[in-house]
Amino acid sequence: MRNTLKIFDRITKKLLDDELNNPMAEFVPSEELYERINLRLERSGISEDELEEVLKDLLMKTPRTATNRFFNQLFGGRNDKAVLGDLLSVVLNNSMYTYKAAGPQVGVEKTVIREICNIIGWDKNADGTFAPGGSMTNFMSMILARDHFDKEIRYNGANKSMTVYTSKESHYSIPKNAAFSGIGRNNVRYVPCDKEGKIDPVALEEMIQEDVEKGHAPIMVNLTAGTTVLGAFDPIRSVRETCDRHGMWLHLDGAYCGSVIFSEKYKHLVDGLELVDSFSFNAHKMIGTPLSCSIIVAKNKKHLYNSFSNDANYLYQTDHDEFNLGKTSLQCGRRNDALKFWTLWKSVGSEGLEEIVDHQFFLADVARKYVRLNGDYTLYSYDESISICFNYKGIPARKICTLLYEHSELLVGYGSFDGVEFIRLVTINAQNDEKDILNFFKMLEGFVERHSSLLLEETLEK
Ligand SMILES: *Cc1c(COP(=O)(O)O)cnc(C)c1O
Repeated sequence: MRNTLKIFDRITKKLLDDELNNPMAEFVPSEELYERINLRLERSGISEDELEEVLKDLLMKTPRTATNRFFNQLFGGRNDKAVLGDLLSVVLNNSMYTYKAAGPQVGVEKTVIREICNIIGWDKNADGTFAPGGSMTNFMSMILARDHFDKEIRYNGANKSMTVYTSKESHYSIPKNAAFSGIGRNNVRYVPCDKEGKIDPVALEEMIQEDVEKGHAPIMVNLTAGTTVLGAFDPIRSVRETCDRHGMWLHLDGAYCGSVIFSEKYKHLVDGLELVDSFSFNAHKMIGTPLSCSIIVAKNKKHLYNSFSNDANYLYQTDHDEFNLGKTSLQCGRRNDALKFWTLWKSVGSEGLEEIVDHQFFLADVARKYVRLNGDYTLYSYDESISICFNYKGIPARKICTLLYEHSELLVGYGSFDGVEFIRLVTINAQNDEKDILNFFKMLEGFVERHSSLLLEETLEK
């Protein structure tokens, strides 16, 4: 192991050095992947030196998500203390289901969860867990909602037509999860949004009424804190009242921007959070821990136990359920996703987390200001969002984004709202500063200038 750690040291040193000079990895087209990199698995092994070379080559050609050229998704950057915690959890290799197997790591997870519940303002009845991604924490929320509606379903299956409500701008995991949970994709109702991409609470109430009249059973509303494209925040308080009238579960999907809970300045964006039944967020998005670090908390832990516990005498052999985290988990064996978040939090404190969040909004303000003040740009997103959606000189967004990628210039994606497609710049990398954002625009403009014939042709074709 010691020798292998030296290999690790050399490989990561090479990567980090190279990232400084080359923030974009060499572009490897998918058609050439297997010719360009030695990925073959063979009967005989190879020497350590050869292995080191193969791994170096693989790493050098892998997209770089930690540099100031990656604006493509809702994660990015590299937080060294969180990386440290994650590396240690790999070396330890515990499984989080029992205190017997994970020991103090259970305390690490419970402490993170407890602190989050405290920030929300929930008492000791609240609890939570980690799952592999925001899609999965959303899945857990739907199971909680289903079992809250009818506790017999988990024994007998469903024989009623349940409906769930989410905005048109919500994440695609909602219909997938409806399929997994026996609710059915066709029983997801997509509620219209206002012009800023927030759910329309009046339309929601009407849709629920209509379903009740048709004999459906409305069981949950899913709200979003930071919609995937525009970064919009749905209103919580008015929707809570609707849910109460109909006995429905209310979940807040904060995968993207739920981390605003750490900021005095921005937590008003989730005003009313303490009123929801469950809340999830991804520390691997705004907080910048390595993937994945997804947390779900429920106001009343009894629902977590009811939906996710199962007896297993080959597993649960010591200690109280409170310390056997498998009793509230979607999984059996489960990696330790808490340690990276705890290590970061311990290191920078809650104030440090607040700074990380506030800095992303600052970078977003820089970007929005640039777009607003420059006549060649059109802005489509709104204030208090860390997604800056825009078009440049009317050029089709998907064309620019793909060319920037193929020329190894910038990784940035596109999205659409209300039938308009635009570039979506995400300022989630908290290691960036103002000049990295301004450099993004300079690079974009320079690129368009150099490739104007290609891009213009495309504009005319459209
Ligand atoms: C990213 C995202 C998810 C999914 O999270 P994963 O960790 O990628 O599974 C869910 N909801 C929203 C709003 C998101 O932005």
